[in-house]
Amino acid sequence: MIEVKNIKASKEKNIDAIYIHIPFCSKKCEYCDFCTFVRMEEEYRKYTDYLIKEIRMYPKIKYDTIYFGGGTPSLLPVEMISEILNELDWSKNAEITLELNPTDMTFEKLKKIRESGINRLSIGIQSFQNHVLKFIGRQHSSEDAINVYKMARKAGFSNITVDLMFGIPNQSLEDLQRDLDILQGLKPENVSIYSLIWEEGTVFWSKLQKGILSEIDQDLEAEMYEKIIDFFEKNGYCQYEISNFARIDDKDKDIEINKIKKFEDLRKMQKNAGRHNLKYWRNQKFIGVGMSAASYFDDNRHSNVRTFKKYYNLIDDEKFPIDENTIEKIDDFEKEKLKKMLGLRLIEEGVNYSEKDAKKVEKLIKNGLIEEFFIEKNEKIKFKNKKILLKIMKKE
Ligand code: SF4
Repeated sequence: MIEVKNIKASKEKNIDAIYIHIPFCSKKCEYCDFCTFVRMEEEYRKYTDYLIKEIRMYPKIKYDTIYFGGGTPSLLPVEMISEILNELDWSKNAEITLELNPTDMTFEKLKKIRESGINRLSIGIQSFQNHVLKFIGRQHSSEDAINVYKMARKAGFSNITVDLMFGIPNQSLEDLQRDLDILQGLKPENVSIYSLIWEEGTVFWSKLQKGILSEIDQDLEAEMYEKIIDFFEKNGYCQYEISNFARIDDKDKDIEINKIKKFEDLRKMQKNAGRHNLKYWRNQKFIGVGMSAASYFDDNRHSNVRTFKKYYNLIDDEKFPIDENTIEKIDDFEKEKLKKMLGLRLIEEGVNYSEKDAKKVEKLIKNGLIEEFFIEKNEKIKFKNKKILLKIMKKE
């Protein structure tokens, strides 16, 4: 078992991101396989205390991004969110995100969340069509989602990202179009839009096995993805990652998305992109605390244990609550591989390639799968084919 003294996190120079997992939800959505537990209000206090103990095991770091994910972090009382934040130090312009569900949210709570230091909200809307929301087992309605979004703006949130889904069996192209039309009016800074993934162990998965549900037609799903990309392009967003779109500020609208030649323009265009997630895709180091949270530092990738009992016991024994079976050593070769694999998700940034990749790259360009481009003389490649992008999204 890894012990505190064996973790060399203090020697890591480049960690400036922390993910905090809050494993509570008010109801389990039928497609979800995340580490979450429902109706466990009595556990909130104890879990927060142990999260704080785990945070204290790490050296003090000035974070650039802090991300509360889950689960539904907005279920925690704001006082507990503040207690966790009080344990952390962050830089002046840090991005501090909290995932939120549009259920049981009041203006007062949103205001308190903003006052706690959280400056970015990630709202799990998934769809604005009530029949789709009901189908996937969400508790909120379209009206709740719009209402919470508007209240969040009034409460002072100038950085909001919205989660949407497509490729849902009872969702039509028209449903998706209506979702995009509503989005056009709301103008969030960032949109993450994922196709439904049938994860083993979920209610949806067992319904699929029993023939109660069937997957959406692949051509329709591809058509949906094309519609999404087209919509964001026409509405002043840049697709900076396979599933992520950032709103381009009005003053930067004259930058031509497909002709970026300078890093400065790329940065302007991606100004509203989620900084925390960008660090994952750029293969940068991060700490994850809480049950099931993944971390990457000291040339290791690993995840924490997934049960309350193990999590509490390991921390009581002053050990990091890591699931030893998940430890993956990342040597230089793996690092390069990961950098390329993750980097290719970054549509506009692309990745650099070395001479030894030249032959492979040439073939892929010939087949129309990737394209070559330059940013300030840096030779780079990026994906070109939308069907491939969709396939990659479905494999994550
Ligand atoms: S609210 Fe989010 S984390 Fe919770 S069950 Fe639904 S999809 Fe999963």
